[in-house]
Amino acid sequence: MAGAIAIAAALSRIKTVLCPHCGAKKLVDPKVKSDVRVCPRCKKRFSFSEALKTSAAKKK
Ligand SMILES: [Zn+2]
Repeated sequence: MAGAIAIAAALSRIKTVLCPHCGAKKLVDPKVKSDVRVCPRCKKRFSFSEALKTSAAKKK
């Protein structure tokens, strides 16, 4: 059960960002220290903090 709680806690902080290269959605855990993420679709690297800003801007 402790594992289920840990997973729920992890999911609650997960952010969805869009890849700036191809627009694919990626789920990112902000607790991970590295700011560089790899897109699951195009395999290019991008900055999580920058992608979060552009993703938030696109919602409005
Ligand atoms: Zn991409």
